[in-house]
Amino acid sequence: MHGDTPRVPLRTCVGCRTVRPKSALVRLVQTANAVVTDPDTTLPGRGAYICPTPQCVTLVRRRDAAVLRRALQLHNTWGPQCTAALDELHDMVDYHRA
Ligand SMILES: [Zn+2]
Repeated sequence: MHGDTPRVPLRTCVGCRTVRPKSALVRLVQTANAVVTDPDTTLPGRGAYICPTPQCVTLVRRRDAAVLRRALQLHNTWGPQCTAALDELHDMVDYHRA
């Protein structure tokens, strides 16, 4: 391995488990009292990545966003915060698709 080709950072979607370039996924981060979308990946803290597609957002939103809570290592009480962030992301996704 020589450094000729730029290495693209890869991340796994918490929904469909597909590995994609980090730039093709949207980051979700836990802040002090909420889970927020972090499209510019500038926020500190543990993040989870998800495909910006209605399919993956819907998939992750199931069961109080259990897969997202697991990825962010959150307690069960964080379900509402996670689903709120996913609702916000779902709106963004629909908007981008238009
Ligand atoms: Zn996905």
